[in-house]
Amino acid sequence: MGDTMLETRAANLPKGSQVALAELTDPAEWKPDFAVPFNQRTIGGKIVISNDFGDWLFLTQEEFRDFVEGRPQPGEPLYEKLKRANFVASEIDFLDQSLRWRRKKEYLFYGPTLHAFVLTHRCNHGCQYCHSSIVGMDRMDTDMSIETAEKGVDLAFQTTAHGLTIEFQGGEPTANWDVLRHIVEYAREKNKTAKKILSFALVTNLSLMDDEKLEFLLDRHVQICTSLDGPEDLHNQIRIFRDGNSHQTLLTWMKKINQRYVDMGLDPNQYRVEALPTITRPSLTRWKEIVDTFVEVGCRAVFLRKLDPFGFAAKSAKTLGYSMDEFLEFYANAVDYIIELNRQGVQVMERHAAIMLNKILADDEPNYLDLRIPGGACIGQLGYAPDGSIYSSDEGRFVASMGDDMFRIGSVDDSYQDLMGGAATRALVMAGLNDGHPDCVSCVYKPWCGQQVEYNYKTQGSLHGHMRDSTWCKKHKSIFDYLMHKLEAADEKDMEMFRLWTTNRTLDHFIV
Ligand code: SF4
Repeated sequence: MGDTMLETRAANLPKGSQVALAELTDPAEWKPDFAVPFNQRTIGGKIVISNDFGDWLFLTQEEFRDFVEGRPQPGEPLYEKLKRANFVASEIDFLDQSLRWRRKKEYLFYGPTLHAFVLTHRCNHGCQYCHSSIVGMDRMDTDMSIETAEKGVDLAFQTTAHGLTIEFQGGEPTANWDVLRHIVEYAREKNKTAKKILSFALVTNLSLMDDEKLEFLLDRHVQICTSLDGPEDLHNQIRIFRDGNSHQTLLTWMKKINQRYVDMGLDPNQYRVEALPTITRPSLTRWKEIVDTFVEVGCRAVFLRKLDPFGFAAKSAKTLGYSMDEFLEFYANAVDYIIELNRQGVQVMERHAAIMLNKILADDEPNYLDLRIPGGACIGQLGYAPDGSIYSSDEGRFVASMGDDMFRIGSVDDSYQDLMGGAATRALVMAGLNDGHPDCVSCVYKPWCGQQVEYNYKTQGSLHGHMRDSTWCKKHKSIFDYLMHKLEAADEKDMEMFRLWTTNRTLDHFIV
């Protein structure tokens, strides 16, 4: 049944297509001086154009031809439309555009904001897709020590960023509770003089949670995030937990924590446990149940993430894996359903879509590290391993867990200057640009897309990757295509819904 359903739905995944100028217009008629540099792609019967400022428009084929041939005259509707969207070269206000670029590229002017501390490799779950090099609960030798933790926090505080998030990861980070506690207290104390915008996030399976731990986390404003793969049978099939029912434990704590937020007077529309699903082969036909589960537990966002090519996930690819085409079909089915729910008044969004729409519709830069240029490796995030090794990112650490230290850029004993200015960091940042990629330079989605060098390396053996054959590119291009088709067909109500997805509220309560 599953395969039939996938095949039927596959036909509904709308695609765009790259189209050369010469296919649509006569090169002898081109007026290159009229327009700013732009790219184009066909979406349905229309042509979408974008420029490097991040502006975009849908044009009919006739409008497109007039545009390329420089025919529109001031005062004409097409000219004014192109002018408003910054496509007419002679009408560009360069000061305005440089300020706009500065606002959206603000992250280039400071160091890493996300500092992911792996407190231990121990875990009491044996999730089949786990990316980390997990070990049994008795392997205390894989815990981060207090000394390494303090050196890591000292290093994190040297970032030139005004905002600093310390994220606790594992293994199961609450298994090394004393060090987690110590980091929170130590960082809060340091921040009395550093005065950064400091926040903490804990990524936990919630199975070791108890009232005492929860009181501490709530009192110190630590944001709690967890993994939820959907309905009980699906979740428990993949997230193997020998000491109990993983799904029931998770939901019990999620409910309790969400209720505590309400008791504390926090708006339940904003403050709740964040949950993330990982999509595996058994998930592919169950988009509806996965979305329904998230709605039932009070989540307002579902982040439909494809299985990564890292760590244990790569080893279990045969049983849990699937092709990018299968994922994209799943994605379109799930988001179609999410849109349907929104039309019925249910507030829920998909995160990839929300991040992309934020860039496209709200002209914002949410600084999502996987979808920015350069990518987030080193200059957006750092990963701190229990032994004090520093990696370009969480993904860099996952590659290390497979026996390849390619993304180890140093240790907590190195200086911030050496880490940030080192050859490895510079190479990773340069590889994370898409302005030099042969396919990206002519892609209409370039203003909003991004690179992840670790993914390129793992899937194609090259930091730069080769976008024409890249599943990274395929995923993002297909989701952009899907959204562009939705925008092209959207009525005013749908546009209102999409704009609502782009609303970002700062979670002030989690800022120390
Ligand atoms: S990675 Fe692919 S979708 Fe993204 S800008 Fe490059 S060519 Fe376009």
